[in-house]
Amino acid sequence: MSSVFDDLVGQEHIIDILQSAAAASRNGAETQEMTHAWLFTGPPGSGRSSAAVAFAQALICSKNGCGACSDCKAAKTGGHPDVEIIRTEGLSIKIEEIRELLTRVAWAPSLSSWRVVVMEDADRLTESAANALLKAIEEPGTRTVWLLCAPTLHDVLPTIRSRCRHLQLRTPSVAGVTQVLINRDHISPEMAQFAAKISQGHIGRARFLATNETARSNRKLIMQLPMMLGSLASALEAARTLVDLATAEANAASETRDLHEIEKLHEAYGKGATGRGMATGGSKAVKELEKEQKSRATRMVRDSIDGALLNLATFYRDVMLVQSGSVEALINSDLSAEIEKHAHYTRADSSAKKVEAIMRARAQLTMNTAPLASIEALMCRLAQP
Ligand SMILES: [Zn+2]
Repeated sequence: MSSVFDDLVGQEHIIDILQSAAAASRNGAETQEMTHAWLFTGPPGSGRSSAAVAFAQALICSKNGCGACSDCKAAKTGGHPDVEIIRTEGLSIKIEEIRELLTRVAWAPSLSSWRVVVMEDADRLTESAANALLKAIEEPGTRTVWLLCAPTLHDVLPTIRSRCRHLQLRTPSVAGVTQVLINRDHISPEMAQFAAKISQGHIGRARFLATNETARSNRKLIMQLPMMLGSLASALEAARTLVDLATAEANAASETRDLHEIEKLHEAYGKGATGRGMATGGSKAVKELEKEQKSRATRMVRDSIDGALLNLATFYRDVMLVQSGSVEALINSDLSAEIEKHAHYTRADSSAKKVEAIMRARAQLTMNTAPLASIEALMCRLAQP
């Protein structure tokens, strides 16, 4: 029998826990298995929000998360009255948003035994927002279940994480991701394997690469950067290239979505239908949407730069492998000639330091520093022999 947990790759260890918690919660009582605050952590792309959404479905479905009934379907798209999925477009979740959320979810569940809130980016809660949420989580006797997601335990306030049951997702294997791309997304086996391998267990990124030719050619361009690094000027140029490519890729993805959202909003306020202007409140709503879209665009550019940096890191990781005499397990096997050449004329002990420098630059990106400046500093570091 199929279930909402089928799409979770390599997470068998937590699926058992979630299934028995959902089954135990059938009678609506709080049991040892079932608690009302959960924290899903796992590396980017491991599918922590997919796991949380699947659990939400299992909690409100009369068949423990069949994936086929109307409750399951509505819950997945955020259209179920008892399931709320909070996706953050901006860089942080503010206290006003949490207060608004708390008034929305204060009601008893309408159709099921639980009201479920999935918060995909609990790591983006500001401190005051987290404290407001904490009060709600601590409240006894409530019918609300909180499913929080974050990259690691350290990304969530200790007071919050100590009240949650913690589930740690694993990075799915390359073979597991390949299989999902073939079965679910109907991608050819060769392409699926290539994309899964260079995405290192990040399912979303693998799917994006496998289905997007521009993304694949951008990756190739990024991977040529280590070869052109030498002078200061070349390092600055490489930084500019990386940021420009990543920005263009992110903007292409958000522009179509932005336009579609604005059109729908115009429709909702009756623009076009009567040939006159929009109904009252229309232009204010458009302005608010545009503000949200701008903040989402910033985040998408950052994610895209992060993806480019991750690619670069796999390049130096491969160089390191070759320098230590192993060539079989290259991630970027399509670039083996370039990698071997680079391994030949750079120092073995510096490759590991370059990978570290890239990881530090990734961490800096999540703080509010200007991306170009930190990428420039990184490229200067990578230009050293
Ligand atoms: Zn169902």
